[in-house]
Amino acid sequence: MNSADSESLARRLLAAGYVEDSLDRADVAILNTCVIRQASEDRVYSKLHELREWKTPERTIAVTGCLVGKEGDGLRGRFPHLDAVVPIGDYEPFIASLESRYDYSQGESLPHAGRTGVSHYVRVIQGCDHNCTFCIVPRVRGREKHVPIDMVVAECRAAVADGAKEIVLLGQNVDDYHDPDGRGGLAALVREVERIPGVKRLRFMTSHPQDLEVELLEVMAASGVVCRELQLPIQSGDDTVLKRMARGYQTRHYRAIIERARMLMPDLGLVTDVIVGFPGESEQAYLNTRALVDELEFDVVHIAMYSPRPGTFAATRMADDVPHEEKLRRLNDLLALSREIAARKTSRWVGRDVEVLVEGRDELQRPFGRIRQGKRAIVLRGGDVQAGDVIDIRVMQATAGQLLGLQIPTNSEPAA
Ligand code: SAM
Repeated sequence: MNSADSESLARRLLAAGYVEDSLDRADVAILNTCVIRQASEDRVYSKLHELREWKTPERTIAVTGCLVGKEGDGLRGRFPHLDAVVPIGDYEPFIASLESRYDYSQGESLPHAGRTGVSHYVRVIQGCDHNCTFCIVPRVRGREKHVPIDMVVAECRAAVADGAKEIVLLGQNVDDYHDPDGRGGLAALVREVERIPGVKRLRFMTSHPQDLEVELLEVMAASGVVCRELQLPIQSGDDTVLKRMARGYQTRHYRAIIERARMLMPDLGLVTDVIVGFPGESEQAYLNTRALVDELEFDVVHIAMYSPRPGTFAATRMADDVPHEEKLRRLNDLLALSREIAARKTSRWVGRDVEVLVEGRDELQRPFGRIRQGKRAIVLRGGDVQAGDVIDIRVMQATAGQLLGLQIPTNSEPAA
């Protein structure tokens, strides 16, 4: 979501004639910020401290993103060298203030500045209507606002015209999407977007287990465009912890979704988030999470240590009673397990033919991209392959994080 916000601000600035440059040559530095955990927030403060050296009366420092939702204008008091505090999405007054300060009239105006890469992120829901006891997002990003289907489709068409091959629909809980004019939910939106000519791939993230409907899984399974990847945070594999997190589902409900999804799509890529050390998480509760991670065989597990966030129910009403060292132990233990599972799962792709959407070249100049199930893939000896190409490869090798394969000539059997 933050990357999508950065992209849209950058696109707007490029269209106004600004150019990206290194910090030492730039006139303006904009920090787009995340406050999901204390560690993310601390990174912003240390960056702001660093920028003190860089700041001169001619230079501008601005902060946007979730820290603005959390701290507002108060940031200016704490960081006197900060020039502008820009609320998420409300960029025009800031851009107007830059235009009055810097003369870029000699700069070329670039209405379609070529920002769009292979993938284009489209925010279909802003904010969050859930009330997870640990989470600060509803406070800093507000309640949900859903973008009408027609507007989403128009944005996707423009992105495709600009060269995008893949559309990624974004929302904190994207499966909660409903068109404000009553034209349906995420399944209906996905059906509209997948039929736009030129959309080679369609993904959506992140889903919430309470909102996910079988109809969406059926649309995914039937489509040749929608990727077979589900990003579905479980947060804990223990029902008492889930209840204290106010997640609105139990582990048996989560298991049932995965069972159904895998029945429809046996090769589904599955990504989840887990918080370790939530208030009251006993050793047994942690072991329940560990067992569920082992059982469900996620492809990727994003693991975070619980971080109390100001104003949340958990921070104000529950004791942060799992010591830091214990949180760290659980994090490392689960990380080791999830890497083992990831390696096991990627090795199952060896010998199979898969379709790759090429995104660019890695540091060894090998084309890389992703398969429809979300895994990163490297094309060995892919001399002529370009970003944006959709090619088939035969997987020769696999590591925990990626597949390596050779391109298959186009007249062979279709890939998975
Ligand atoms: N759809 C998602 C869901 O079902 O929860 C929303 C994603 S949430 C905005 C991003 C992730 O950050 C969460 O899944 C959670 O694992 C992590 N997170 C949020 N608040 C946290 C906290 N206080 N401490 C640690 N991790 C946190």
